[in-house]
Formats: sequence, C-alpha cells, structure tokens
Amino acid sequence: MAGIPIESWIIDLADLQQPRLIGGRCTACGEYYFPMRHHCAKAECLAPCEEVRLSTRGVLYTWTYVPNPRWGKAQVDKPYLVGQVDLPEGTRIQGILEGDPQKIEIGMQMRLATTPIEQKGEDTVVSYCFVPDEEGAAS
Ligand SMILES: [Zn+2]
Repeated sequence: MAGIPIESWIIDLADLQQPRLIGGRCTACGEYYFPMRHHCAKAECLAPCEEVRLSTRGVLYTWTYVPNPRWGKAQVDKPYLVGQVDLPEGTRIQGILEGDPQKIEIGMQMRLATTPIEQKGEDTVVSYCFVPDEEGAAS
C-alpha cells in the first residue's frame, strides 16, 4: 500500500513493495534499537548509533485484542490486534497486527506491512503493522 508515513523517521516507504522500519545500531557494541537512538542505551557503552533499516520479518512473541479506538477516533470501528515481534537483530517491535485472529499464533513468522491510519486530502497516512508471513510459512 502506498501512502505517506505517520512519522518519516520511523518508516521508510522508498520501496513500495516492502516498507522498512528505521532503527539504530550502536557503532561500538552492535546493539540494535527501534526507534533510532543517537547513543547506545547501555550505561557501560553510550557510543553513537548509526541509522539502519531493520529486518522485515520476525517471530511473534505475544499478541492481544485492543477494544479501544485507534489514534483519537471517538468510536471503536472494531477491536484490533497488537503484538510484539522479535526481529533477528534482537529488537522486539510492538505494533498493530493484521490478519485473521483465528490463524494468529505465538511463534509464527510475521512480515512488516503498512496499515492506513487516516486520510489527508489525496494522501493516505500509514503506519507499520505486521501480517502473517505466508511466504515464510510455506518455506
Ligand atoms: Zn553500545
């Protein structure tokens, strides 16, 4: 889905086929962060971080339903799903999940995608989400 990112420093949409999360990697110890940090959070390190594009696939650590309205909406369209996905870099990312709740299971492979947040004129503002990784599941 094309669109404009809800925050340009969080999501890279340059590749229309595959959005990327913008994270940081410590130049000294190699720790990864999301979102980007300017300096490592480890007290014994504190070295500068460099901007990186994080992996687009990971493993679902946990998930739940959220019955509250999304982003300032007054009404609940429908309950939505939120989960935490562990990327190969060791970073745990929290975000919206999309897909059939009956088929979502902890431990399954997930892929980064986008989800519409609001319409601004001609533009659809999008955030990131995770969807079941059909390709990963098949291989
Ligand atoms: Zn560090």
